[in-house]
Amino acid sequence: MSETTYVFAPSPVYSLPIRGSNVRFPVKRIFCVGRNYHAHAVEMNRPVDKASMSPFYFLKDASTTIESGATVPYPTGTHDYHYEMELVVAIGAEGFRLAEADAEGMIYGYCAGLDMTRRDLQLAARETGRPWDLGKDFEKSAVFTEIVPRSELGILKHGSINLQVNGETRQSSNIDKLIWGIPELLADLSQFYHLQPGDLIMTGTPEGVGPVQVGDRITGHIDKVGDIELNVGAAE
Ligand code: MN
Repeated sequence: MSETTYVFAPSPVYSLPIRGSNVRFPVKRIFCVGRNYHAHAVEMNRPVDKASMSPFYFLKDASTTIESGATVPYPTGTHDYHYEMELVVAIGAEGFRLAEADAEGMIYGYCAGLDMTRRDLQLAARETGRPWDLGKDFEKSAVFTEIVPRSELGILKHGSINLQVNGETRQSSNIDKLIWGIPELLADLSQFYHLQPGDLIMTGTPEGVGPVQVGDRITGHIDKVGDIELNVGAAE
């Protein structure tokens, strides 16, 4: 049997460490939930009425993945580079058209994430009805900690989520404030996609988003999940 040969080396597999394990979690797709905490939806001037609205999603390419602790260059094309601290669900099974009761078996584990955002480009796109890709899906914009297996955590329903810039608290909330909780998100997203092992779901950020500058150190914490860190380096 002859091996496939390629004109150039295929893309690497992006992956994350798993707590207590020496194997890694290969990242497939990164789904991001928009406006999933009321106070953040209000600060973005887009309040959410759960009775009449559904969650919405955007994606980041797996190649935007970067591990907690990194220093990333201040990204090109923006003057308003923002942090968004988020609980991330790591999918470990295949699932399509799930019921909420099926959600727990889909979850491999959890990690903390930063949905780094070029806010000026995102808002310009939003106001003109254009896609958000330039604002959201850019290199090194998806920051993740190691994954904590679900085993003893079950479906996370509450726990502090907070973020500091240079030690000063900017975001402080609780995941019990998620508008759409984890079972609802998995049930909804799986109406539109065949969920796959390796998919990550960034569940949305609480209020207090804001800009960072070159030299800033971002830290964050989610109870039972972990601590994240990102350093902002000079622009390339
Ligand atoms: Mn986000």
